[in-house]
Amino acid sequence: MAAIDSLPPLRDVIATHELSAKKALGQNFLLDLNLTAKIARQAGNLAGSDVLEIGPGPGGLTRGLLAEGARRVLSIEKDDRCLPVLDEIAAAYPGRFSYIHGDALQVDPLAHLTPPIRVAANLPYNIGTELLIRWLTPPQWPPFWESLTLMFQREVAERITAKPGTNHYGRLAILAQWRADAKIVMDLPPQAFTPPPKVSSAVVHLTALPEPRYPADLKVLERVTAAAFGQRRKMLRASLKSLSPQIEDILNAVGIPPTERAEQVDIEHFCALARALATA
Ligand code: SAM
Repeated sequence: MAAIDSLPPLRDVIATHELSAKKALGQNFLLDLNLTAKIARQAGNLAGSDVLEIGPGPGGLTRGLLAEGARRVLSIEKDDRCLPVLDEIAAAYPGRFSYIHGDALQVDPLAHLTPPIRVAANLPYNIGTELLIRWLTPPQWPPFWESLTLMFQREVAERITAKPGTNHYGRLAILAQWRADAKIVMDLPPQAFTPPPKVSSAVVHLTALPEPRYPADLKVLERVTAAAFGQRRKMLRASLKSLSPQIEDILNAVGIPPTERAEQVDIEHFCALARALATA
């Protein structure tokens, strides 16, 4: 296969900079540049977008995003051992790549980005869900991002994209699909990574909706889904009792049988319930 850029192969980068993977930083590297370019292509129109990347590590996905034509890439990396590698990428792509050395949970990169902004990352698994929830619950909607193209453990990817009536359907599916279109666009076996993780992975692509799919107050919706899925085997008239003494009447009024379980209720009905509880 042709090289995607003039920089050294990733195995050489890792050897030269002695980047042995650290488990505490969730380091499972992608070393096949054709694979990282393929992931980058899932992120949509890169040419007209700034891309925010979390955890570039040795830079495989970063190079994929740049080679696929991202207008600019800004990466946030915690591990100082990776910084000399990122300097080399910056030199190879003048004016198109920069990075912030820091913790993605602490740093606010927005001042350095120009819309439209896309997020792409092979995330450290220990902070992936927390970052996703933050990106889905900003103070204002629409959010700063047009799309998120993110690697997750396959099981988490299924929880984000699950439909009602399935085992993985729950709070994360409702939050994600209330405000975005979400789909799994790639599956990756453990051997795609160095070192291989214990489980399979998947890339999820989320596109922000201009406004949430159905009206509801975020806080009320979260309270309802937390109560409903906190006791997911129970009937809703029992699991939601603490939210209102009239819960059976309210459920009936919004068209949800009080004997239903949380897993069976779609996002439209959860939103109707949140609206009814907000005014009850
Ligand atoms: N993007 C690279 C790739 O695909 O090969 C590396 C992915 S590796 C799964 C996760 C990366 O996130 C590592 O480089 C790790 O050092 C970095 N990282 C871990 N925790 C972080 C944090 N809190 N903030 C920023 N980067 C972090």
